[in-house]
Amino acid sequence: MNLSERDQAVNWHPYTQMKTAGNAIPIVKGQGVYLFDDQGKKYIDAVSSWWVTLHGHSHPYIAQKVFEQLTTLEQVIFAGFTHEPAIRLSENLLKLLPENQQKVFYSDNGSTAVEVALKMCIQFAYNQGKEKTKILAFENAYHGDTFGAMSVSGRSVWTKPFGEMLFEVIFIDTPTSENLENLKKIIKNNADDIACFIYEPLVQGAAGMLMHNPEDLSELMKFCREQEILMIQDEVFTGFGRTGKLFAADYFSEKPDIMCFSKGLTGGTMPMGITTCSKEIFNAFLSEDKYKTLFHGHSFTANPLACTAALASMELLLNEETQEKINLISKKHSEFSRTLEINPKVENIRQMGTILAWDFKTEHGTSYFNTIGKLLYEEFLNKGIIMRPLGNVMYLVPPYCITSQELDFIYLAILEVLEGV
Ligand SMILES: *Cc1c(COP(=O)(O)O)cnc(C)c1O
Repeated sequence: MNLSERDQAVNWHPYTQMKTAGNAIPIVKGQGVYLFDDQGKKYIDAVSSWWVTLHGHSHPYIAQKVFEQLTTLEQVIFAGFTHEPAIRLSENLLKLLPENQQKVFYSDNGSTAVEVALKMCIQFAYNQGKEKTKILAFENAYHGDTFGAMSVSGRSVWTKPFGEMLFEVIFIDTPTSENLENLKKIIKNNADDIACFIYEPLVQGAAGMLMHNPEDLSELMKFCREQEILMIQDEVFTGFGRTGKLFAADYFSEKPDIMCFSKGLTGGTMPMGITTCSKEIFNAFLSEDKYKTLFHGHSFTANPLACTAALASMELLLNEETQEKINLISKKHSEFSRTLEINPKVENIRQMGTILAWDFKTEHGTSYFNTIGKLLYEEFLNKGIIMRPLGNVMYLVPPYCITSQELDFIYLAILEVLEGV
């Protein structure tokens, strides 16, 4: 049996209808922007392997640092013990975040970072003898697949089988200059019951790269602050340069109370989640009363290897060279947008920094289940490019190591595919 057949015999893949899915492509090697399959064919990873890879695959600097750590200290319980990689990572990360972010809580992935954030907010109220159990979130939000994260995500086919078991959330539209006053009214009417507002800042990734503008979200954040509603800014996708700035937070003057990170945190090399919070949140858990403790933790909390990978990745990210590459990608994307604008098969072109998205015009409308996605996916694979349309939404989220020529190669392929279908 070849690798695909052996895989099919034993593995159950994520977000995959296993009855109709074709064979998974065995990848045997990753290098920079490329992935290589078992037949030696190479693919440009234009989606950063589900939005995680920042500096390219198998980056030698990150590999070296992780190897050194692996032979020094690979894991240690993080209750009662600590280690330098976690201390340095927290120090370095907090320096880059809004100055009200003062404490770092480690977990394993984006979903768990969100779970921790939700627990912090709900228990923040509980510890002060208040009962606030409703959550405010955006329609079409995606915050992960564990139950809490699923609860605060927009209701969809993904959440449908669990509908009855998800907790109570007030969903509002993302802000525009037209609907802002109405959104404020909804918030004001429920303010006393709302434990927190959770949102993906600027880009709703999984919803199909939907974007809203910084001024409108800023305004909404200011209003939540006035209403004393805690804010959880989920930067699991937008963090670490994707939006053109280091964090989406850099677009706003108002500061969230809590922030969530994962995906690009380790440069996409290893799973890790981080939830940061303000002094006020942290202090609400300080007490002689043991019941006020945040009883949450994962076996691999602050794993030293993942911390080391994150430290190395952040070092690379802050390099002048990487910052220039981020600017280059943003600039080239906006140039390509102008070419797309005149393409009759394209609509709703949108860009935020290194993230470029548009809708493929179809008579069936925009939806995750639009079958054009599968067709486009295969067209691009044939051309040696990994793009993974969300239904008829096509997007690019390339690793920052991509060159100008490689971007041109992708842009040309996009025009050819659009021409052909
Ligand atoms: C991917 C994602 C998550 C979930 O992260 P996982 O590591 O897949 O659990 C949460 N929030 C946002 C905004 C995401 O894009």
